[in-house]
Amino acid sequence: MVEARKCARCGCMYIAGTEVCGKCQSKDGADLHKLKGFIESQGYGELTQGELAIATGITDKNLARFLRNDEFKGVCIQEKAVGATGESNEIAQLV
Ligand SMILES: [Zn+2]
Repeated sequence: MVEARKCARCGCMYIAGTEVCGKCQSKDGADLHKLKGFIESQGYGELTQGELAIATGITDKNLARFLRNDEFKGVCIQEKAVGATGESNEIAQLV
């Protein structure tokens, strides 16, 4: 079955089994390379997704898409955890 898909990067319609269109695949590759390079040099778990986006220059939207991959599990701390310090402090004290 041939199915038209909407590119996750540029929004154009295309026919393929990938997440982005052919034009955007190289851009995705470059961003992923940047992201992996950053993680290798900086480590991870210290930054929120927003901070990671600023540090790598990858857009929030694309970064969110990359971080859904198991490969990047635990790469950044959850946005939710930021600002909920009272809650996490309580948990830390219990442990
Ligand atoms: Zn595209």
